[in-house]
Order: sequence, then structure tokens, then C-alpha cells
Amino acid sequence: MSKSSLPDYVNPRRLAVQGMALEGQISADSFKRIAEVATITSQGVEVSLKFFCDEENFKVISGTVEVELDLDCQRCLSPVNVKVISDFEVAIAASDESAKNIPKHYEPVIVEEDTLELVPLIEEELILALPMHAYHDDCDVQMSFGETELDAAEVEETTPNPFHVLANLKVGKSKN
Ligand SMILES: [Zn+2]
Repeated sequence: MSKSSLPDYVNPRRLAVQGMALEGQISADSFKRIAEVATITSQGVEVSLKFFCDEENFKVISGTVEVELDLDCQRCLSPVNVKVISDFEVAIAASDESAKNIPKHYEPVIVEEDTLELVPLIEEELILALPMHAYHDDCDVQMSFGETELDAAEVEETTPNPFHVLANLKVGKSKN
């Protein structure tokens, strides 16, 4: 079950004309933008891309990308593991101008020359697919709200130092 690694760059128009498919895994380290908001917990990102020309001769990449990552639970702020799968269809445009002609059911991707870097495309699609709010299914914050051991420890630490209390008393007295 060994997976070939994908190329960093492809010529998407040529692959579309050839009707090629690419499949493989991209290492988690490659996804710096995702690393800012989540921790990838799977070995990498599973990528499956099909390149083809549609009936109107648009060059299309149809892709499925899959990853497991830890997001912060919005209730308890501890990590919650989620599987994110993104299915997308993008069409290659030569410029912003020609992107306007791309049918609405495709996302346009501008490729001016003959090379497309795969990681930014895949990372963008994954970021769009991230859940806005992640929660544990069985998040226990509701039951233990305000009663956790952590809270107790924090209270203890913030108990005023008795000498500070004395100092305050002194100041109070001298004011009278
Ligand atoms: Zn939680």
C-alpha cells in the first residue's frame, strides 16, 4: 500500500488533454497556512486529482482531498479531531479576464504559464472545507462548568498574600 508522492508542479493543460489522473499523499509539513489554525494528525493529505477537457473544452481538475486534523473545540478549547474531505472542480483560466468566461459550476484557477503548484491549490480547497466551528460530540464542559480542578487551582493561586492584606490595612489606617 505504498503511495507515490505527487509532483510539486504540474502542467495542468497538458494533463487535461491527456486525461491524466494523479493520486498520492502530500506531507503535512507542506501546509504552512493550515498549520496556523490546525494540527494535521494524519500522515499527510490524501490527494486524488483527475484532469480532463469538458465538452466546451475547458481544462478541468476534479479533485478529492482528505486530511485529519486537530482544531480547537469552541466549547472547551482542547483539541478536537476532525476529518476534512473536500471535493472540488476547478477550471484553468489564462488570466483574470478569461476567468470570467468560466462556467459558474467551476472555480477558476489562473494559470498564466504552463505550471501549476499543487500545494497552494490543495491547501486553499482544504481551508475552504474546514468547519467554521469545531466541537467535541461529547464535550464535557457543560457538566463541569466552573467546577474543574483547574479552576480550583487558579483560585488558590490568586488568593491574596496575607502580608499584602496587612499592607492594605496599614494604608487604610493612616488615611483615617
Ligand atoms: Zn470540547
